[in-house]
Amino acid sequence: MPRQSQKRIPRKTFKRKCHTCGKMATNPLVYHIVPPISVYGQIPIYQKGGKKTDRVDLKGKMKITVMNYCDRECRRRRKKEIWE
Ligand SMILES: [Zn+2]
Repeated sequence: MPRQSQKRIPRKTFKRKCHTCGKMATNPLVYHIVPPISVYGQIPIYQKGGKKTDRVDLKGKMKITVMNYCDRECRRRRKKEIWE
């Protein structure tokens, strides 16, 4: 019996609601909006051996916003909505 390679590594797919059109998009474009650190703001001090914090887990002022879009086109549309 010939061996067929059946071991396929499935690509991890995920669905997110698009920020522009509200449709569920498979593997959408994900944008992380990181708030800029102001000159007067406190820059987190790196602690040797300290607990590492994921960017997504940052709270308060440092919290990042995650935006999902179907594709580049949808993102452009969103930008237009904001700027016009
Ligand atoms: Zn969309």
